Amino acid sequence: MGYIALYRQWRPQDFDNLIGQEHISTTLKNALSTGKIAHAYLFSGPRGTGKTSTAKILAKALNCQQGPTPAPCNQCPNCERITAGTSMDVFEIDAASNRGIDEIRDLREAVRFSPVEGRYKVYIIDEVHMLTTEAFNALLKTLEEPPAHVVFVLATTEPHKIPATIHSRCQRYDFRRITVAEIERRLADVATSGGLEITAEALQLVAKHADGSLRDALSILDQCTALGEATITADAVRNLLGLVGHEWVWKLTGALAERDVAGALLTLDELANLGKDVRQVLLELMQHSRSLLLYKAVPDITNLEMYSEDRDVLAAQSAKFSHDELVTLIQGLQIAANEVKWATEPRIIAEMALLTISRRGTGGELASLVERVAALEASFAAGEPKRSTRSEATPPPTQFKAPPKAQQNKSDDQQSKAISATPPLSAPRSVSTEPQDVWDAVLKDLIASGKRSVHACVSQGQLMTMDDSLVTLQFQSAFAKERTEKEDYRIMIEKLLAQILDRQVRLTCQMVEAKTEKSNAAVTTADESEQHPALNQAIKMFGGKVIKEEKNKGDR
Ligand SMILES: [Zn+2]
Repeated sequence: MGYIALYRQWRPQDFDNLIGQEHISTTLKNALSTGKIAHAYLFSGPRGTGKTSTAKILAKALNCQQGPTPAPCNQCPNCERITAGTSMDVFEIDAASNRGIDEIRDLREAVRFSPVEGRYKVYIIDEVHMLTTEAFNALLKTLEEPPAHVVFVLATTEPHKIPATIHSRCQRYDFRRITVAEIERRLADVATSGGLEITAEALQLVAKHADGSLRDALSILDQCTALGEATITADAVRNLLGLVGHEWVWKLTGALAERDVAGALLTLDELANLGKDVRQVLLELMQHSRSLLLYKAVPDITNLEMYSEDRDVLAAQSAKFSHDELVTLIQGLQIAANEVKWATEPRIIAEMALLTISRRGTGGELASLVERVAALEASFAAGEPKRSTRSEATPPPTQFKAPPKAQQNKSDDQQSKAISATPPLSAPRSVSTEPQDVWDAVLKDLIASGKRSVHACVSQGQLMTMDDSLVTLQFQSAFAKERTEKEDYRIMIEKLLAQILDRQVRLTCQMVEAKTEKSNAAVTTADESEQHPALNQAIKMFGGKVIKEEKNKGDR
């Protein structure tokens, strides 16, 4: 038997081990003790919070040979089969891939037969909001007259998409996001019993990053262990997730405090060259700014979760900003971080944000930054630089302090030629059926929804083919390929593809062959040559000079 993912190994097997959902486990245990078992439950909540695990525990509680009981024994054949997923009475249905009327009609036929081994037939319908209207109607008929031996558990991340008629037939339980502290405790347990060496800072970083999903947290831990290092450090986690260490954020904040435009842009450049994600830089800068604001307001604050715990840094840096400056800084970074999600050139947005913050109080206000960013995006989308009208509204060009190594490779004349000779960049939000655009949208969506660890893995694949029913990715890393193929990642990607394409497609992964490596390299080079005009265009519109012109792969 191969490697079992941590989140499967650590799936809770009884109500008492359900993390962060005590309000639900208590109610369900009471219902089981008093025999008040509903025929349909609706479990709603974010992914990775224990909905399916709870459904399986409920199934065991109902069918355990000692049951129905709030504490299934986990040892009798019935419990064991349910845990292993081989029970003849417990059915897990993925509504994302069985969303049609035929599947639900089959189900209506099947529910009439008595259970084979236990007392109840339990139907767990995952992502139930994906069902078609006809399928919901068919399901409703079953829910209206359920046979006594049937229990439905409908699980969803999007309860608002469930028809009211279905809703009213179900007992609803809302699963909450699991807190960082709860995730941290669980990860520590997992690490201890698995003999994993991991530093406290690394643990906290993973917990924070999982965004309320224990499953994501365990997946990240899985990826960390695959690095094969004796001790998992915070730096290793940061590298894996493309996060930025504190020192960089402090340096960047220091430059902003001193209004040192060149320093800020050079630090961003260093980070980009290290492969750090531009949006992550902005987000961490924002979190640090919040810590400065809190520290400034209440220096002896201890209870709040702070991004940076180093009191000396907080004291020194918070003194350099006014309260209002910090508020404006946070707002500006928030706007830029949102813009970056969709930007054709995320790095330019980040540069503009840093530039504007550095020039605060000298007319370069954040509001005008937002306007200019919007204008830049619009003109890229239209393929028209509109330089003449834009230059009137633009403040005089800023003179960046050019470092000794700075080079300007092309004269202004050559830059203009480059702009006109290159086709316009496509608008990022426009609907397009170009396979690469669809794939790019999937990757962007992962980042936008905070699935950085999934993105870090899946984005290692190269889109090979996309036809009516099949999308093929090619990987150079066997680990990334196998991870992407696993059920949780694969289904997530297939769902995103289905949303964008409006049809169900299957994802398959393959390893790269020596022959195709060359053509991939050629594609990358071609992409890179197209970046320069965009950068030049921005310089024309906003002023300034190129300090270092280098393609950054980490920020896409
Ligand atoms: Zn049992």
